[in-house]
Amino acid sequence: MMEKIVLASNNKKKIAELRTILGDLMPGCEVLSLDDAGLGGDIEENGTTFEENSIIKASVPAAHGYIGIADDSGLCVDALGGAPGVHSARYSGEGDAENNKKLLSELSGVTDRGAAFVCVMSAVFPDGRIITARGQVRGVILESPRGCDGFGYDPLFYCPELGKTFAEAGAAEKNSVSHRGRALAAFCEKLKGTLC
Ligand code: IMP
Repeated sequence: MMEKIVLASNNKKKIAELRTILGDLMPGCEVLSLDDAGLGGDIEENGTTFEENSIIKASVPAAHGYIGIADDSGLCVDALGGAPGVHSARYSGEGDAENNKKLLSELSGVTDRGAAFVCVMSAVFPDGRIITARGQVRGVILESPRGCDGFGYDPLFYCPELGKTFAEAGAAEKNSVSHRGRALAAFCEKLKGTLC
């Protein structure tokens, strides 16, 4: 029987990227979006950790007989006790530009500017099995934005491994060290082990 995987996301870029990677990893599997599977609509992310939120999202397709796959990510700032963390997308309530402004204002006069981007990817199977993998990249929050690529907090996140901010890096360069790239690599290894 052909297995059906549903990616629990409404982000078209994320879906296209994961569809390619999972298609290579699991030839013969059909990779669907939430909409393709008729499971559209927003999923409430009310977990307190990235793990919880990714499992909440991946459990929706699993409850309908599919292999559900989802990720959750965010920025954890040392001097803010790990905030904005799971609240990264809605930190200011007003989108990326305001989120960045709020972060700069919270860190005004703060010398400890260490931070990490974290991403957790999870798969939930219809029989209840769960796989999770975490990726992280450490960096420094600058005093002002640099670069125009990427999204979210990229212009404020200086990555020492690249010697530039994520917004100054190309997509492939960013993925080579990013929390998402690392989580995905670890996740694929675990998934391979489960499916073989
Ligand atoms: P989500 O996991 O797609 O819901 O992302 C959560 C939020 O974390 C995003 O809306 C961004 O604010 C932030 N974030 C996650 N990953 C990145 C990244 O790679 N660059 C910049 N911001 C990110």
